[in-house]
Amino acid sequence: MLRKRIFLFFLLLSFNPILQAAENKPTVITTLFPIYDFARQVGQDKISVVLLLPPGVEAHSFEPSAGDVVKVAKADIFIYTSRQMEPWVEKFIRGIDNKKLVLLEAGGDFTGNDPHTWLDFTKAMIMVDHIRDALAARDPVHREFYLSAAASYNKKLAELDTEYQRALSGCQDKVLIQSGHFAFGYLAQRYHLKYIAAYKGLSPDAEPTPRNLAELVDTIRQNKVKYIFYEELVSPRVAETLAQETGVRLLELSAAHNVSREELDRRVTFIDIMKVNLKNLKLGLSCP
Ligand SMILES: [Zn+2]
Repeated sequence: MLRKRIFLFFLLLSFNPILQAAENKPTVITTLFPIYDFARQVGQDKISVVLLLPPGVEAHSFEPSAGDVVKVAKADIFIYTSRQMEPWVEKFIRGIDNKKLVLLEAGGDFTGNDPHTWLDFTKAMIMVDHIRDALAARDPVHREFYLSAAASYNKKLAELDTEYQRALSGCQDKVLIQSGHFAFGYLAQRYHLKYIAAYKGLSPDAEPTPRNLAELVDTIRQNKVKYIFYEELVSPRVAETLAQETGVRLLELSAAHNVSREELDRRVTFIDIMKVNLKNLKLGLSCP
């Protein structure tokens, strides 16, 4: 009797059109949080989107596992930022045996030393367009849906950009000092801030040299800086040292490379994170 019921249950399951549709959804695997959220905003319930980086993991020191190769080999679309941002991607994709897999380098248009392209929201909008095009090509049935979702999301990014421009145009302080790696170059450039990062390179694991620190202490004192910013998911040790030395206060400024488990669970968005950043920037730079 029980066996018969189980059989009937599975029979019903296999005829359920909603479940069948779910199975046909394109699987999209993304490396970092910004492109994960962009794909989620454009694809919504039409795709199944996965963030490859485990929550809480620092993006520049991430190395994919053998399990990640298996995961991506089964996917339909694999999206990464650029070869500068995810230098492991080149070797990683060579290990994947799936001729149908669509590869998308969403932020590859912007070459240069700074791979944090999503932190210029006008560049983020172009990344959204690339994601939209990849989804529409792979799943043409929902083409119109992706086009319209991307357009309304890009409108929100444009509004965010306007909000930043307005809020950061009349600040008393124009020097943004951050205790982490060089991540906010685009953001500072777009909103006319002078940007100083404690680490010159990209690895948040690298220690700033004593000379870097001494220079930073000088800059903080010369510019009468009141607040400095520390980055997400990394111990704010350098920021604390600078605070002890100079009396500056600390604020978080997230580059949104990745999020914590708790943030992922409550479905925090890229725009949510950028709004918290703006609040902290306004306080830290004494903006009206
Ligand atoms: Zn970074």
